[in-house]
Amino acid sequence: MNRKKTEITQLNNLLKQCTQCRLSLTRHHALCGEGDLNARLMLVALSPGENEDRENRMFIGPSGKVLDELLDFAGTERDSMYMTNLIKCMLPKNRRPKRDEIETCSRFLDEEIAIVTPHVIVPLGYYTTRYILTTYATGPPSARSDYQALYGRLLFAQSQKIFPLPHPASLIYNPSYKQETMKKYHKLNVLSHDCKWYPMCPMKRYFERGRLERKWIELYCKGNWEDCVRYQKEEGGIYHPDWMLPDGSIDNGLRQ
Ligand code: SF4
Repeated sequence: MNRKKTEITQLNNLLKQCTQCRLSLTRHHALCGEGDLNARLMLVALSPGENEDRENRMFIGPSGKVLDELLDFAGTERDSMYMTNLIKCMLPKNRRPKRDEIETCSRFLDEEIAIVTPHVIVPLGYYTTRYILTTYATGPPSARSDYQALYGRLLFAQSQKIFPLPHPASLIYNPSYKQETMKKYHKLNVLSHDCKWYPMCPMKRYFERGRLERKWIELYCKGNWEDCVRYQKEEGGIYHPDWMLPDGSIDNGLRQ
């Protein structure tokens, strides 16, 4: 067994017996994460639903069906990712998580993140995004309404990439958001691999020589390369100077 497998097995053994909060009284199973331990992307949902709790599997209820549809559209699949929850036991009647439940349970998620070390953490929905931004970035927005603007945006803070997405269950209640949500989920495929131009891109050279901030590489070359202006020009065979940054701005300082 490799190191990650050993560590996750030890963690899951602790999780399965956890009785540290009231949710242990109403669950059938404390649900462990599933998927590729070497995945670039870690999807983090809120908690198991009734189906997941009964069957002891991630995303097998109605929201799992929506997730599969979104991943299929994105051209990717569950097996290429690692999927887990912020709260490991079912929230009765899908109620909101309480603050002390998040505080108690999140240590399992933190340990999973430390073991899997994903390139990108993908929190799904409000509670998970709030937790991930609080713990792994510089903090969440203060108003809940501001979260909508974060969904589908790649963030890079404290050496961690975070890509918040709306929870698939939100489409069950608001099917009119489907097209918009599909576009956001499409980026999961983009984030699954580096930009094909990276090995010969001047940005790589500038970065390796200490002349370019790391954020450009993480946000574009090893992140959302599809939105890079250099990438788009390269694909279109359009001239662009070496000192043009991925957002299309010109950095004359790189010229010398
Ligand atoms: S700067 Fe743009 S084109 Fe170059 S490697 Fe990065 S994403 Fe690709």
